[in-house]
Amino acid sequence: MTTTECQTVKCPCNNCSEVIEFSASRAGEVMPCPHCGLDTKLFIHRPPLVPRPKKSTRGMVIGVGLGALIIGAILSIKPGSRLPVSEEVISETMVPLAPPVVLKTLENVEISFSDDVLLVRNQGQFRYRSFFAWLNEEPPDGYQVEVNSLGPGDAVHIPLANFVRNNGLRFNPRAFKVMRVWAGGNGYQYKEYE
Ligand SMILES: [Zn+2]
Repeated sequence: MTTTECQTVKCPCNNCSEVIEFSASRAGEVMPCPHCGLDTKLFIHRPPLVPRPKKSTRGMVIGVGLGALIIGAILSIKPGSRLPVSEEVISETMVPLAPPVVLKTLENVEISFSDDVLLVRNQGQFRYRSFFAWLNEEPPDGYQVEVNSLGPGDAVHIPLANFVRNNGLRFNPRAFKVMRVWAGGNGYQYKEYE
C-alpha cells in the first residue's frame, strides 16, 4: 500500500510542525496553516518500498520510525470519505520501480571433477545459455571459467588449468586441490557444488 491510495493524508507544517490533514489530491499546494496561520506547502510522505532488515541499531531505529510513519499513514485513512484521486497526482507521486530480477537456477546441471578436469553435464530437457564456474572461493573471487551453452544431454570437460582468477593467476592442478565449486551468473543463480 502507498499513500497515493489514501484519500486523506497528513503532513507537518513547514513552520510550526503541527500536523495538517488534507486530501491527497491537494499535495503540492501552498496554503495557510490552520495552526500558526503561516503559508506551508502540503506534501505526501513517501515510505520506502521494501524495508530491508538492518544490521546496525541505528538502522533498526530508523526502520521502526519509518514503520510508524507507514502505520500512521494507514490509520489516517477514513473509510467513507474517499474521493477519486486524479491521475495527475498519481503520476506525480508514483515512485518508479526497477524491473524485478528473476534468476533462473541451474537445477539440472551436474558438476563433478577429477584431479585435472571439471565435468559439466546438462541432465535436463532444456538448453542452458552460457554461464560461469568458479573453483574454491565464492564468486566473484576464486578461479573462473566460462561454460558454453549446453543443450539437453550435453557434457563438457574443462581442464582445471583453464580456470583463471581476476588477478590473472591460473589454477595449478598440481599445486591446488578443488575444494568447492560454484556455477551461475549470466542470469543464473549462484549454486554451490561440494
Ligand atoms: Zn503551522
